[in-house]
Formats: sequence, structure tokens, C-alpha cells
Amino acid sequence: MKRRDFLGTAGAGALLTGGVLSGCGQESTPEKAASAAPEETIEWKMVTTWPKNFPGLGTGANNLARLIGEMSGGRLKVKVYGAKELVPPFEVFDAVSSGTAEMGHGAAYYWKGKSEAAQFFAAVPFGMTAQEMNAWLYYGGGMELWEEVYAPFGVVPAAAGNSGLQMGGWFNKEINGVADLQGLKMRIPGLGGEVLKRAGGTPVNLPGGEIFTSLQSGTIDATEWVGPYNDLAFGLYKAAQYYYYPGWHEPGTTIECMYNRQAFEALPADLQSIVSSACRVANADMLAEYTARNNTALQTLVNEHNVDVREFPRPVLDKLRTISEEVVAEIAAQDALSAKVYESYQTFRKQVVAWHDISERTYLNVRGG
Ligand code: CA
Repeated sequence: MKRRDFLGTAGAGALLTGGVLSGCGQESTPEKAASAAPEETIEWKMVTTWPKNFPGLGTGANNLARLIGEMSGGRLKVKVYGAKELVPPFEVFDAVSSGTAEMGHGAAYYWKGKSEAAQFFAAVPFGMTAQEMNAWLYYGGGMELWEEVYAPFGVVPAAAGNSGLQMGGWFNKEINGVADLQGLKMRIPGLGGEVLKRAGGTPVNLPGGEIFTSLQSGTIDATEWVGPYNDLAFGLYKAAQYYYYPGWHEPGTTIECMYNRQAFEALPADLQSIVSSACRVANADMLAEYTARNNTALQTLVNEHNVDVREFPRPVLDKLRTISEEVVAEIAAQDALSAKVYESYQTFRKQVVAWHDISERTYLNVRGG
């Protein structure tokens, strides 16, 4: 009954505080409890661009909300809303900006309508990998620039996951040379789509839910989605013959969490740190999950579904890279801040490529199967 007495003394707030409960041992005294309490419970809404519980991305949002709840001992509770549950997917940024929701989960390239520079914080064709993106964001000045880009909207960004290198996509025609891109109707959004267009193709933007039937009916010739883990879940192998790699257009897409600045600044300092730290944990965790699950999903696609996995021919990749450099450089011409972000990204990319050429690239080439 000692425990009950303790809770009665500490007040109802302590019931929600795992840290206080777990510290309730023999040595605990009411005096100690009084200094740790009372606590108020704060409830936040997290709106997401993903379908509820969507593997990897939606579950990544759930994971982040769970971490914040656990790390705060229940003082900050985050309720996750899937796409369309509270707002449509592409209104997530505005919902966080206006305070309709305190928190959002998506990818920064969705917000290029707010700033062209936002795209650098998600994925750039032939740009940095997941490991390199994290290095730039945390130790290369990227995070400060991302904050600057979102600041006029009262939104604070954080990296909260990464898909790793994606796949080039599912094709119903062989890609043997640059000429095969002519007239290719492919679902590929964003900068990658613009690159395909300039290479002679026809990019189409379709929401995830329409991809399968469009590919199966021949409305489109090809589609990219994510990688083996998500593509297997969508059943795309039933609608296309060839599975090409690498995902030149999304070499390591950063998934973001963002919060309303006023709501964030109203939190006590320890909860602010918990939110930031939980994002950092979620960021590392999602990449680990994708790396692990893509392996097993690829085995299933090849061994159980006889998928024809092919590498894009080198001349095709060379052509796409040349066009990508032009497309990405054009973002820099949009405004002063975009130019500043482009400069930082390109400088870091150049340096990290020099390092990874003698480290990662050399090692991957020699380590064998
Ligand atoms: Ca993709």
C-alpha cells in the first residue's frame, strides 16, 4: 500500500510519469516526489503525408510518436493522423504552420511550392546518400539552412528517417539505351520527373494508390515507388516485368518531422530536447529498418516472384546525370536562399564524394559478395 500512498501524495500527474513511477522504490520519499511533480500532460497532434500505418513511412511516424511518449514519461503525448484523417497529405506543412497540428511528418520535396530550396532536404537526383545527408545536416551546416528555409512559416524541421537508396523502378519495356527513354510514360514525381522529361520521356505524377492499376492497364509504361520493401507490399511485380536499379533520382531520401515553432517553444527545455532527440533516434532507426527489410524483400521478389532485376545501362545513367546537374543548378537561380542552400549542398557533396571515393566506394568494390 506504500505505492498507493506515494501516488496520492504526488498527485495524478505522477500517474502519467513513468520516470517517477519507476523511481518509486524503498528509498523514495514524499519530499523527492514533490520535487519531481506535479507534471501536466501535453497533447500534440501529428499529421502525416503517409497512409496510416504505411510500412516504413507511416510506421516511422508511429515510432517517433511512441518514442516521444516513452522518453517523456507520458508528459508529451503525440497522436498520429494518417493522410486525409485530419488534413490532406499535401496540406501537412500548412497545418503545422498554422498550428492546426503541432507536428507533421513527410518529406521536404513536397514543399517546393513554399521554397524551391526545400527539395535539397529530401532528395536530389545523383545527390548525396543517406549517410552523406546525415553528415551534411548534422555536421555540415545543412540543418541550420533547413531551419532558415522553414523559419518564415513558423515551422521547425528535423530529420526523422531515411529510405536509403531507392530502386530505379518497374518497367514494362526494356531500357537498353538513351533512345528507349523517348516517349516513356513513367510515374516519377519531382526533380526526377523533370529530368526524365528533358531526356524525352513523359513524367506522370500519381498518388501511391493509383500506381498499380495504371501500370497494369498500360496507362503508364513504368513507375518508381520506393524500394523492395514497399514495392513488394504494393504488388508491383504483378504489373511489370523489369525492375531496374539504381534509384538515381532518390539516392537517400530524408524523411522529415516538423513542428510548429510556437508550440515547440512553449515546451519546457527538457521536452524540447526529448522531441529533438526522439527525431534523431527515429532517423537512425528508419534507415536500419529499410536496409534490413529491403534485403529480405528483394530475395522474395527474385526467388518467389521471378522478378527480372536489371541495372540501367551506363550511357542512360550518364545522360540522366548530365541533365540532373542542369535541373538542380536551376533551383539555385530561383532566389538568394536557394542559391545559398545549393552552394552549401554542392560544396559538401564534392568533399564527401572525395572521401567516399577512397573509403566506401573502394571498399564496396573489393569486398566481394
Ligand atoms: Ca520514390
